[in-house]
Amino acid sequence: MPLLTLFKKRTAGGGDSKDKRKNIKVGIPKFLNIWSTHRFWIGFLKALGIPARNIIFSSDTSEEQYREYGKGRIGMDSCYPVKALAGHIGELIQTKKIDLLLVPMIYSLPSFLRGHVVDVLSCTRVMMGPENIKAGFVKEENVFEKLGIKFVSPFVSFGEPHLLPKQLYEAFRDVLDVTYEEVERAVKAGLDELERFDRKMRKKSREILEWCARNNHPCILILARPYHMDPGIGHEIDVEFQNCGYPVVWGQYLPIDDDIMDWLFGPEVEAGIIRSPFDISDVWRSSYSSNTNEIIWGAKFGARFPWITAVVRLSSYECGMDQPTYTPVQRIVEASGTLYFKFGDLDETKPSGSVKIRVETIDYYVRKYSVRIIETKLRRLDPRRTPESFRDALKELSASREMQTGG
Ligand code: SF4
Repeated sequence: MPLLTLFKKRTAGGGDSKDKRKNIKVGIPKFLNIWSTHRFWIGFLKALGIPARNIIFSSDTSEEQYREYGKGRIGMDSCYPVKALAGHIGELIQTKKIDLLLVPMIYSLPSFLRGHVVDVLSCTRVMMGPENIKAGFVKEENVFEKLGIKFVSPFVSFGEPHLLPKQLYEAFRDVLDVTYEEVERAVKAGLDELERFDRKMRKKSREILEWCARNNHPCILILARPYHMDPGIGHEIDVEFQNCGYPVVWGQYLPIDDDIMDWLFGPEVEAGIIRSPFDISDVWRSSYSSNTNEIIWGAKFGARFPWITAVVRLSSYECGMDQPTYTPVQRIVEASGTLYFKFGDLDETKPSGSVKIRVETIDYYVRKYSVRIIETKLRRLDPRRTPESFRDALKELSASREMQTGG
C-alpha cells in the first residue's frame, strides 16, 4: 500500500498523521556520509513521530553483504565505498520489512570548518551514489515498487542549513503527510541531536588525549573519511593499533575547545599566518571538499599535538579525492617530526596478513621514537598557553618521574 493512503488528515502540528507515523518503518543504508550525519536523521525522524525502534540501519559493510544483496546491481565503475551501497540497500529491502527507504543525496556536510574554508561540499560520488545504485534496482523491474517500499532520496545541503526544511519538506510532504512547520521543527531537532553527539565525541577524544598526557603515552591519530570507521571499509585497522596498546583518536572528532586551539594555533593566529585556528589556507588553498578539509586540518592538529606521535592515513582504492592530498598531508605531519604511515587502496578484501605485518613495523617505530617526538613537540609549544587540564597532567607526570628517580 502506498504510504500516502495511510493518512487522511493533516494539521500544522501533525495531528492524526503524526500519530499514524509511529507504525512506519524507515530503513537507512549505513553508507558514506551517513556515518557523519546519522544522528541528524535519527533526531529528524523521531521529531516527525517515527519511533527510534522503527529507524533501521543496515549492518556494517561486508563482502558477504555485497555478494548476497548487492551483486549485479552495479552499473558503473566506482570506489568500493559507493559500490557497497548496493549491498546495504539490498539487505534492508530483503530482510527488514521496511515501508520507506531513506537514501539522502548529501550535497554538502555539517562541518566545524564551515566559514573558515571555501566550502564544505561532499565528494560528487557521495552525492550521486544513491541515484547510481538505485538504477540497478529499477532497470529490469522496479524492485521498490514490487515490494511496496517508497524510495526517498532528498537532496540535502548541510552546508546551508537554512535550506534543509525546504529540501526535506519536498521529499517527505507526500510520503509522510507532513506540514512545513513540522519539518522545520524536525530539522532543528535533528541538528541539535547531531551537535550533541559531536560534542560528546570530541569530549571523549579530549579525555583520551589528557590521559595520554598524564601517562606520557603515545597516541595514534587516524586520518580518513568518516566511512572508514565502517569495519568493512576501514577494515578495523584502528583496532589493530588499540590491540598494541595505543589509544586511537579519529580526525573527525578531535577536540576543538578554545584552550586547546589557543595552545596549538594561537601564536600563528597572532602572527597573522592564519586567520583562525580552523584556517587551512596556509597549506591547502582549494578548500572546497568538506572531508578533505577536515583531513588536512587533522594533519595540522596531529603535527602540533605532543602526544600524537604517529598519524595513520586510510584511503580507499580508486579514490580520486584523496590522491591530491597524500603529499600535503604527509609533509604537514612529517615536517613536525611526527611519524606518518599510509594504508591506501583499501577495497572489499581485508588485507589481514599485510595489515598485521605493517602494524608490527609501525609499533616498533612508535615505541622507539615516541619519547623523543613528545619532548620535541612540547618544546615547540608556548608553556604559558598550556590548557589547565594538560598543565595538571604535566605536573602529575613530572611528580611521578621525580618519585621514580627519588628526586
Ligand atoms: S571521497 Fe573517495 S572514497 Fe569517498 S566517495 Fe569520493 S571517490 Fe569514493
